[in-house]
Amino acid sequence: MKKADVATFYDRLAETIPEPKGELDYVNPYTLLVAVALSAQATDVSVNKATEPLFKVVDSPQKMLAYGEDKLREAIKTIGLFNTKAKNVIALSRQLIEEHGGEVPRDRTLLETLPGVGRKTANVVLNIAFGEPTIAVDTHIFRVGNRTGLAPGKTPLEVEKKLEKVTPEARKRHAHHWLILHGRYVCKARKPECWHCVVRDVCAFKAKTTAEGPAAASKPKRKTPARKATAKTGKRSRKA
Ligand code: SF4
Repeated sequence: MKKADVATFYDRLAETIPEPKGELDYVNPYTLLVAVALSAQATDVSVNKATEPLFKVVDSPQKMLAYGEDKLREAIKTIGLFNTKAKNVIALSRQLIEEHGGEVPRDRTLLETLPGVGRKTANVVLNIAFGEPTIAVDTHIFRVGNRTGLAPGKTPLEVEKKLEKVTPEARKRHAHHWLILHGRYVCKARKPECWHCVVRDVCAFKAKTTAEGPAAASKPKRKTPARKATAKTGKRSRKA
C-alpha cells in the first residue's frame, strides 16, 4: 500500500473511532495480564463474565496465590482450556512475586518469560497498561494486514514488523485497537463488509463485497452507513 494510502487508512479509522479501547475488563496491569492470558482461544465476553466476580476479590499476584489454583479453576471453568490457564496464572503470579516484586514488568522480554505469556499477550499488556506503541497481531490484525495490503506477511511476526514500519508514529499508539475493531466488526473473516467500509478506496482486496454478496469494487460511500456502523463498534469497545 502506498504511503499516502496508509495515512488515509489510519485517518479514516481514527475519524471513526477517535479513542479506541479494548474489550477486556481489568482494574490494573496485573488483572489485565491475567485477562489477556485467559482470552487465548476464547471470546472477550466469556472472559469478562468470569473475571467480573473474580477481580473483585483477586487483584494482585499475592491474592491470587492465596486464592489458590482449585478456586481459580472453578472461577474460570466456563473459559476454554481453563485447566492449563489456571496453572499458568498461578505460576505467573508466583514468578511476579519472586522476580518482580509483585509488579508487572514493562518489558516485552521479561513478560515473555512468564508462563503462558507469548509475544502477543506481552504486546497487548505493554500497549494497554503502559501506553507503549506496540501492535499485537491476533487473527483479526493478521487478516486485515494481508487482505488490505497494509502489511502483508506469512507469519504474525512478519505482519507485526511490517506494521511497525509502515504505521505513522502518531498512529502507533492506537493502531492495535483500530485494526482489531476493524477486523472484528467490518473486515470480517468470512464476509468482509466492504459496502460500508470507510477504507475501501485504499484497500487492495480485489473481491470487494456488496450487502448481497461479492461484487466488483465500486466507489466508496464514505459518509453514511459506513461511519455509523463502525462508530457503533467503537462504543462497544473497551483487546485485548
Ligand atoms: S474494503 Fe473490504 S476487504 Fe477492504 S478493508 Fe474494507 S472490509 Fe476489508
